[in-house]
Amino acid sequence: MTAQLIDGTAIAQKVRDEVKEKVAKRIAEGKSQPGLATVLVGDRIDSATYVNMKQKACAELGMASFHHPVPADVTQEDLEKLVRELNDDPKVNGILVQLPLPDHLDEERILRLINLEKDVDGFSPINLGRLAQKGREPLFVPCTPYGCIYLLKEAGVKIAGANAVVLGRSNIVGMPAALLLIKENATVTVVHSKTKDIPAVLREADIVIAAIGRTQMVRGDWLKPGVAVIDVGINGIPMLNEDGTPVISKKTGKPRQKLVGDVNFDEAKEVASFITPVPGGVGPMTIAMLMANTLRAAEIQDK
Ligand code: NDP
Repeated sequence: MTAQLIDGTAIAQKVRDEVKEKVAKRIAEGKSQPGLATVLVGDRIDSATYVNMKQKACAELGMASFHHPVPADVTQEDLEKLVRELNDDPKVNGILVQLPLPDHLDEERILRLINLEKDVDGFSPINLGRLAQKGREPLFVPCTPYGCIYLLKEAGVKIAGANAVVLGRSNIVGMPAALLLIKENATVTVVHSKTKDIPAVLREADIVIAAIGRTQMVRGDWLKPGVAVIDVGINGIPMLNEDGTPVISKKTGKPRQKLVGDVNFDEAKEVASFITPVPGGVGPMTIAMLMANTLRAAEIQDK
């Protein structure tokens, strides 16, 4: 079997086009321009890149973005003051504090402080709590897991009644992905670093969402034929020439890297019915869903 590719880039573009159209429409109707505030603490290159991509997406979709770079040694008090100011700013509909924060900061307190109606990352304990409760709905669903479920639905994968296995239980991906799948009536197993015999657990799965950050760990023979695989992992590995030597970048003089997921794609695609590539799968969806959440925040705040 050769799996059908779930094209995250194309599906994300469709979401972005819809958001862009709705933003233009609301502005034409005299409503406010949706605005996203990004807070970047310190100078981690990966975090700075993600924030930059989010600001660019805002510009492309006609939304305002307000960037707040903060020194790595910011005090808890000063960071909380900034979040309160953003909570009070009517031009700011969504607040995104880029994680992870430096160790001296109390991440939970910061996330709890974000006004619920501006919590476009969906990480506040109340939004996550509502995701976990039957009959309750969060105002915002965390962007990466939201993107995973969106991809499954776009591909036409039946979630209700399916056996789903989520690899990873982080607050930002694995756990909310499991909670979302339960809301969609899947039967869910969560695998983590203490799970015994992961291949045996995976072989029962109709749907796999892999979010562990372990290079190509999931092998083809761990999967049930016909499974739908969503690979969230982003891992850098050296790019190799045909003779096995590393490819050296002409620009930087350093070995070049390529991105791969948590799933061995070449093996898995022979077993699965659907699979997301890395890159071009979940990655573009995360930003698209953030844009959708920011528009939703503006709509909620209209009322
Ligand atoms: P974390 O490091 O926070 O969590 C990793 C999870 O995987 C933990 O629950 C851990 O278990 C589990 N785990 C780690 N190693 C193993 C193992 N050998 N066997 C079984 N379980 C294991 O990672 P994140 O959730 O933040 O991210 C996961 C991956 O997704 C990363 O590659 C990250 O780069 C990527 N990512 C991609 C995004 C996108 O937009 N595409 C967005 C966010 C993340 P335990 O709890 O027991 O420690």
